[in-house]
Amino acid sequence: MAQSYFSDTSIVKSESDLIVILGHGQLARMMYLEATQLGLNIVAVNANTKEVVNPVNKSVLPLSVDEAFSAAVAITSEFEHLPLELVEKAEATGKFLPNAKAIAAGADRIVEKQLLAGLNINNCQHVIIRQLDDLEIAKAELGERIILKTSRDGYDGYGQWRIFSDQDFVNIKQELHSHNFDKMPLVAERCINFQRELSLIGITDKNGNHLFYPLTENHHADGQLVLSIAPAPKVTPELQQKAEIAYKKISEQLDYCGVLAIEFFQVGEDLLVNEIAPRVHNSGHWTQQGCATSQFENHIRAVAGFPLGSTKVLSPVAMINYVGHAKPKADLFAVPNVHLHWYDKSVRPKRKMGHINVVGNTAEQLLQTVRQVKAFIPEGLAKNLAPLLNQ
Ligand code: ADP
Ligand code: MG
Repeated sequence: MAQSYFSDTSIVKSESDLIVILGHGQLARMMYLEATQLGLNIVAVNANTKEVVNPVNKSVLPLSVDEAFSAAVAITSEFEHLPLELVEKAEATGKFLPNAKAIAAGADRIVEKQLLAGLNINNCQHVIIRQLDDLEIAKAELGERIILKTSRDGYDGYGQWRIFSDQDFVNIKQELHSHNFDKMPLVAERCINFQRELSLIGITDKNGNHLFYPLTENHHADGQLVLSIAPAPKVTPELQQKAEIAYKKISEQLDYCGVLAIEFFQVGEDLLVNEIAPRVHNSGHWTQQGCATSQFENHIRAVAGFPLGSTKVLSPVAMINYVGHAKPKADLFAVPNVHLHWYDKSVRPKRKMGHINVVGNTAEQLLQTVRQVKAFIPEGLAKNLAPLLNQ
């Protein structure tokens, strides 16, 4: 059946090198761009409509999900919040990488906490909220400052409440009065007074070999990543090793293949896992210019069964998320060592529109260039550079 479609369209050129990505956002787009360079074909599945699309121009392709799956050499995903039936259908083909187990651990904070507990990996002290009264238990166990999160569907800080006072507690209890806890349990976490947020991007190939990028320092505004500094300054080899040990345990437990990201809170010289993402990650975008092989290329290499590419760092990078604003003027390109990656989406508040990778030969040069970039971006984004510029 699929044959006729393949001979009919020039977009999907041959079936021997087709990779299907579940989800059709910017992560699928950036994987597509790298895969093209490797001579591979990519189609993406719009998880809402189940249409098979080109993830760059979003054109709908004359191909059903079943046909794409049967023609694919591998199926992967750009997002963990996927309809269960789509994940199960992908898993049933035997071609889905990483796998349904890993997607479930990334998609559901309760499954994720169970995974971490089973592996003895430090994470935030928490209480699962299965009914309204459990909030009282959380308050007694976790103290005054609590972050409440939906167990599923949360990202970029959506699906979270901050409880920092008695009044917040009263208000939130009121707000959750009609919440269906059976359908959507919550997780209450102690609000951690961390020194900083770090993430580890690692890749596992089909044979279980791992490669790592150096830890990245991340800054958030309103629960959303706005700035990454990479490699993170002042990381001891011991700290990098602690992160890699956590990665190996998780990756091995999940029979993982592909890029896996782990978000950490640094407390003293210890790391607490905040969450895991079974996919390429926003805090790994700096690898596009900063490393010999980007996270996108390495994810594609892993799922295609190719040898992994070197993760060697070529230069330090500041990755600036371009959130909620229209494209910057081309004047920006006059600044040397600045790379814009634009996702071609319509503007909405808090929406990730693109990112800028600023490259420097040295940390000092990087700072100078970021200062220059500041003049070309909207005020609302320029203020996010403070952690780097005011240090
Ligand atoms: P998302 O899936 O939206 O990324 P996270 O759990 O990573 O959700 O939370 C987003 C951000 O909120 C984190 O990067 C961190 O800045 C802050 N945050 C989340 N949980 C905690 C916590 N327990 N203590 C302190 N800050 C937190
Ligand atoms: Mg997060």
